[in-house]
Amino acid sequence: MPNPEPIVPPARIALLGLGRMGLPMGTNLHRAGFEVIGFDPVAAAREAFAAAGGTSVASARDAVVDAQAVITMLPDGKMVRAALLDGDTCLADLLRPGTLVIDMSSSAPVGTGELARDLGSRGLALIDAPVSGGVRRAVDGSLAAMVGGKSDDIERARGLLAAMSASIFVTGGIGSGHAMKALNNYVSAVGLVAACEAVRIGGRFGLDPQIMVDILNVSTGRNNSTETKMKPFVLSGSYAAGFSLGLMAKDLRTAQELAEHLGVHAPMADACADLWAAAMEEMGGAADHTEIDRYLGSSRRAG
Ligand code: NAD
Repeated sequence: MPNPEPIVPPARIALLGLGRMGLPMGTNLHRAGFEVIGFDPVAAAREAFAAAGGTSVASARDAVVDAQAVITMLPDGKMVRAALLDGDTCLADLLRPGTLVIDMSSSAPVGTGELARDLGSRGLALIDAPVSGGVRRAVDGSLAAMVGGKSDDIERARGLLAAMSASIFVTGGIGSGHAMKALNNYVSAVGLVAACEAVRIGGRFGLDPQIMVDILNVSTGRNNSTETKMKPFVLSGSYAAGFSLGLMAKDLRTAQELAEHLGVHAPMADACADLWAAAMEEMGGAADHTEIDRYLGSSRRAG
């Protein structure tokens, strides 16, 4: 049953997933005056959220009691689906009709459409609202949100989304935010790989990597990675951007599958998805995504 009331503070919000992104996003919701009940299977994540002022509970069931909205910030759409619909007690069956589910994870858009239908048959509404900007912008509440779904449902969520995001783009029907997010990360991944390769080639030629990045940043080769990742995370060797290689590989696979599903020829997306899949196999999904540079430079291939 649709519920047109906007969700405003101090509404009770369940937040599933208190990881690198969910923790600061939930903290900003709490600061904005929402009553945020967080759940994560990892005890340290629950403790961190409680320390930040939120309420942590030890089960997802406890988190969703009387929630007006449920936000998911999980690794992928399959986990979102499992969290909501699987298990001895189906979480979705505990939600009141009209409850709004907001999947802010970077999920695959085809699965999002299926989830919307399955939740809809239980009287629940779903919008997809993945975000871009990384941990830094999750912390300062300046994420970019790309939001798909029915416009009434999106309007109900605006106050929530504004507590975490500086820009909110309505991208269209259900799954469109997830499609946009995968395509954004495809463009972002290509930019990072190109910058890492260019600096490796230039370095071999004798160019100074720091000066190369300075030149790229005032030239036409500039991109988000040259501006915000190359010096602090790649050239420094810290490789600590806070977004895992496994999650980036997942987003690239999603972009590749979307192209295939739609019959769009996208050879660069294929090459990029294959490169990151190979890197994940060698380095493991928990590596930072900026460690793609180490993969590119590893002696086995670099010669
Ligand atoms: P993360 O791995 O740090 O966090 C995911 C959290 O979900 C973990 O703490 C995990 O324990 C928890 N979790 C797993 N199953 C759960 C369940 N059933 N119920 C509750 N919690 C559960 O990942 P992250 O970096 O925070 O990314 C989350 C999502 O946001 C991903 O889809 C990712 O692609 C996307 N994203 C990440 C970034 C980034 O910079 N890290 C930026 C934009 C989007």
